[in-house]
Amino acid sequence: MVITVPEQEVPVLAECDVLVCGGGTAGITAAVAAARHGASVVLLERWPMLGGMATAALVTGWHRSDREKMVIYGLVEETAQRAEKHGWIWKDGQYPRAHETHWFEPEGMKIVYHDMLDEAKVRTFCYTVAGEPIVEGGRIRGVLAETKQGRRAVLAKIVVDATGDGDVAAKAGVPFEFGRASDGRVQGMTMMYRVCNIVEAKVKSFPPDKARAVMEAMRAASKAGELPPFNHAFGLGHARNRFIPNMCPVAGNPLDEEELTRLTIKSRRQAHAYWDWLRTRVPGLEKVQIEQTGMSLGIRESRRIRGLKTLDAEMILGTAKHPDAIGHGIWMIDIHDPLGTGYTTWNDRGQRNMVPVGKSYHIPLGMCLNATVPNLAVAGRCASSTHEGHSSVRVQTHCMVMGQGVGTAAAMALAAGRDMAKVDVPALQAALRKDGVYLEDVPVEAERT
Ligand SMILES: Cc1cc2nc3c(=O)[nH]c(=O)nc-3n(C[C@H](O)[C@H](O)[C@H](O)COP(=O)(O)OP(=O)(O)OC[C@H]3O[C@@H](n4cnc5c(N)ncnc54)[C@H](O)[C@@H]3O)c2cc1C
Repeated sequence: MVITVPEQEVPVLAECDVLVCGGGTAGITAAVAAARHGASVVLLERWPMLGGMATAALVTGWHRSDREKMVIYGLVEETAQRAEKHGWIWKDGQYPRAHETHWFEPEGMKIVYHDMLDEAKVRTFCYTVAGEPIVEGGRIRGVLAETKQGRRAVLAKIVVDATGDGDVAAKAGVPFEFGRASDGRVQGMTMMYRVCNIVEAKVKSFPPDKARAVMEAMRAASKAGELPPFNHAFGLGHARNRFIPNMCPVAGNPLDEEELTRLTIKSRRQAHAYWDWLRTRVPGLEKVQIEQTGMSLGIRESRRIRGLKTLDAEMILGTAKHPDAIGHGIWMIDIHDPLGTGYTTWNDRGQRNMVPVGKSYHIPLGMCLNATVPNLAVAGRCASSTHEGHSSVRVQTHCMVMGQGVGTAAAMALAAGRDMAKVDVPALQAALRKDGVYLEDVPVEAERT
């Protein structure tokens, strides 16, 4: 059944140069970069805080190193320095010789990210969903937002879709991919949560053979259906006094709100089931509590907007370099089972899913631009990639690299009176380097495609 909605005059809530839809890691850096390069910027975020998966889903790890040296800087480094002043971020024990370089406190990041936007004078509207795009003559003029006062329009010269799900680009008619080639399923989702009241010293002194036996029994109980599936990488060695385990998988369609609601509560129940089981079996866990679950289920993958370039596994593992590079990526092909069994290719570290030690691949601007709507870009996990390519470039630091590149490109394109696809790429790269972005091995002009 469909209904016809009557035509309506819609008041304009805000007008700007660059409208960023979605305030996750990609949206924040896009907005800050565009504003610092002279654009007036509005950011719309549907949740009460910024950070997206990083804060709302309690995803608190960063990957910045090629396992020899750090290769991701720019706004990522600035964010780290700001958080460090408050003790809200700390280096991984293996820094900088592991991909995992930092862990952070999500409550702190909510403040850091908002400070960066406020200082850059980005007009930020939380609690505001970016709804239908306004598309006229093949260009996007802005979006409609349903507010407490009624429907309002936000108008802009360039729109950056950083919604993670590519909501605005898809509704504006830009083609997209969804799921893996074999069955159209996206990566499994995970409810992240924080446990407390663990007596770490007692857990650590639990004899290793007994700890192994408990984990084996837990896996057997899960296999027998007495316990829900859990991430195969989880072990008691991860337990800290208070910590956030990446443990609790579910699978389904993150674009179906009813299914998402069901999966969210299912995963919260799963989290309690694991610790109810462990509480009676491991000394030190007697008083363990689940202190907080993610406000949102952790969503890894949904729409991947089809761009001018599509990042694939070969480009990642072959450390491909692009003339339109805006930064570097280092993360592995990291696929969590789309059926929700808890299997992840992260477990196969050392196999062919890793970027070689000391090497990195380029993140090209073209994966954020498209051939359908020239004044609309995407940034973050909805950028153009294959299912496999996405599993690497979706991590936060890579999304932040994309955001910084796209935001800077948007402001420079507007200043030059061009579309983003026609931006002066060497000038963009020079601006990014000046802003601290690590950008090496860019193919020389003569090799440009
Ligand atoms: C369980 C899990 C574990 C992970 N582990 C790691 C890890 O260890 N390290 C790592 O770096 N990465 C990890 N990732 C990946 C990473 O966290 C995300 O891919 C990344 O944060 C995506 O950033 P983003 O800005 O593109 O999207 P998101 O973080 O999804 O942000 C999108 C934002 O847009 C908002 N939004 C959506 N639709 C609208 C709309 N219509 N209007 C207004 N606002 C809207 C959302 O509320 C959200 O704030 C993990 C992801 C998951 C789910």
